[in-house]
Amino acid sequence: MAQLQTERPPTSVIHQVDATYPPETREFKEFQILKSNDSRTHAGSVIPPDIAICDNCLRELRDKRDRRYDYFFITCTDCGPRYTIIDALPYDRPHTTMRDFEMCDKCLTEYKDPGNRRFHAQTVACAKCGPSVTLLASDGKRVDSPDPIREAGKLLERGYILAIKGNGGFHLASSTLLTEPIVRLRKTKFRFQKPLAVMARDLKAARSFAEVSPAEAELMTSYVRPIVLLRKRPEFDLSEQISPGLHNIGVMLPYTGLHSMLFDETTERAFVMTSANPPEEPIVKDDEEAITRLRDIVDYFLSHNRKISQRCDDSVVRSIGGTVTLLRRSRGYAPAPISVSVPKNTCTLGVGGQLNVTSCLVYERRAYMTQHIGDVETLQTFEFQKEATRHLLMLTGCKPERIGRDLHPVFSTTKFAEELAQEYGLGVIPVQHHYAHVAGLMAEHNVDQIVGVCCDGYGYGDDGSAWGGEIIFADQTEHKRFAHLEPQPMVGGDLATKYPLRMVAGILGEDAEIVDWLLERQDRFPHGKEEVDMITRQLCSSQVPLTTSCGRVLDAVSAILGLCYERTYEGEPAMKLEGAAIGGKDSLNLRPVLNGNVIETTGMVREVFASLGRLPVRDLAYSAQSYVARSLSESAIAAAMDLGVKSVGFTGGVACNEQISCTLRAAAEKEGLRFLVHEAVPPGDGGVSFGQAVVAAMVS
Ligand SMILES: [Zn+2]
Ligand SMILES: [Zn+2]
Repeated sequence: MAQLQTERPPTSVIHQVDATYPPETREFKEFQILKSNDSRTHAGSVIPPDIAICDNCLRELRDKRDRRYDYFFITCTDCGPRYTIIDALPYDRPHTTMRDFEMCDKCLTEYKDPGNRRFHAQTVACAKCGPSVTLLASDGKRVDSPDPIREAGKLLERGYILAIKGNGGFHLASSTLLTEPIVRLRKTKFRFQKPLAVMARDLKAARSFAEVSPAEAELMTSYVRPIVLLRKRPEFDLSEQISPGLHNIGVMLPYTGLHSMLFDETTERAFVMTSANPPEEPIVKDDEEAITRLRDIVDYFLSHNRKISQRCDDSVVRSIGGTVTLLRRSRGYAPAPISVSVPKNTCTLGVGGQLNVTSCLVYERRAYMTQHIGDVETLQTFEFQKEATRHLLMLTGCKPERIGRDLHPVFSTTKFAEELAQEYGLGVIPVQHHYAHVAGLMAEHNVDQIVGVCCDGYGYGDDGSAWGGEIIFADQTEHKRFAHLEPQPMVGGDLATKYPLRMVAGILGEDAEIVDWLLERQDRFPHGKEEVDMITRQLCSSQVPLTTSCGRVLDAVSAILGLCYERTYEGEPAMKLEGAAIGGKDSLNLRPVLNGNVIETTGMVREVFASLGRLPVRDLAYSAQSYVARSLSESAIAAAMDLGVKSVGFTGGVACNEQISCTLRAAAEKEGLRFLVHEAVPPGDGGVSFGQAVVAAMVS
């Protein structure tokens, strides 16, 4: 029992130990690990996530005397794909996509030998009996090569685009030094600005273009091997096309034998490695699918013949003020359970909102979250969510008793919740978007009540209007909107999200000076002067929808400062604002204006506008974020003091903004309050399903 704790495998987590003892006898005669039983309910068991290649396997891969020398699919008990190959539980080879490969005598001997480090490793394989790799031309025809992987690396270095099959799907890969293939890749993926992740050869290579703190290095080399957002070095020398206009870059390290071999015969420090998914669709996982969907994008495919059971994107994390923040919880994390504090042992399910969706099952104080699904706006993504959710229900053997869904009446996920409810004959609980975020924070940290600051782009409010800058009090039974950002007009509705200059017009109004300024930027509107005229006319109309969104205010500032006029991916204007503020100071130093339960923002935006050209962009960006952070914290702290609440939390997509998050923390802690942020689930919409399942469990 003692050794269980001290000598357990490096990737294991002990959630609890249940020991029963038969009546005392004089001696123990034998020691056995019993075969997993086949019972239908596996809720108590743990479904392992994928684990990056371990040091021992990496050493054998490079050892000429080892029989797995140069074998790309080298794995052991401590490493290899798990979740992405499992069709059913218990986790035994016949239940995985490895069943297609019959073990050779040598592998079988290792598999059966309790003294071998591949004892009972379900993925054990070698060049003789295991998966093999092939290089294909863009039309799917096999390219003869004695060494397909190293050949692929050389092709990347020479400027070709490759689709490379990994554990959970295909990546699109290219050189990080040549701009031409990246531009070509962007064009075909319709991602003109969205940052692309890279895979660096090793830590040293990553350090040549990005700053890596000891904590970040630990994350990057952990068995999860996520994409870590790192700050670019001042002498950043990779193509600017990788993450244009941003201060950081997403970097991961090789996590399979195949990935490390890619670098062997090149001098490249890193390759672009971005999920291969057609716009608004899930990551591509099967060869046929890849060839039909990607043939026009790529020059070659590097594939292997092991099937992928579950598609799974890479996880993305960022260290914010020393806390690991999950931007996307997927490969390496999903679907390992998260300990959660909920009052009852009901089994509940959350289905998320609309963007960055996940599903989440809460049962017996554990939360099981699916991999990252994406934006449920196309049929393909919707199907992916349904399939991943049903897979999770099957793996856990759980039967949900209640389902939490978003309050929004026409989201696809709302439809999915109704569908499941009918099937299982159970109730659906609509949960307000920001309350879901705050409830998740409470359950993650096991607190009974909280004042939560929840800031993001959009959520359907209790009153049906657009929310996104909320101070919410919540406890086990209720939630109350304590304060919110000033409602601002969204001229043209959703168009104001896409073109933040419309937010500027809405916030600053119809002053001649503003109109002139907008007219000077008329080429930034798809319909030029005509559009500006129409916007100014609409300003007087009472039909313009209002939003309390924090994201929209940051977007407006970003547009005023000329950092972003068109949002081509979620969060773009605000992310560029955050990047621009680095190294700045709060030269405006505006005093928070709280008007009852309304936190004013117009005055701040007006000041930024008025200071344009007088003060550096860096300081204005910093000052705007500082105002938002200080006014939110002043309001939240006042609420906490009023209500006698000891914890203040920060959640929603804006919680990924380092300056705002750190300012809130400092202010709350100065008042002796506990400051809580998410550590186990993403603060953005990827964590909404978790909050919904928690709320559904709290409802009696
Ligand atoms: Zn290993
Ligand atoms: Zn073998």
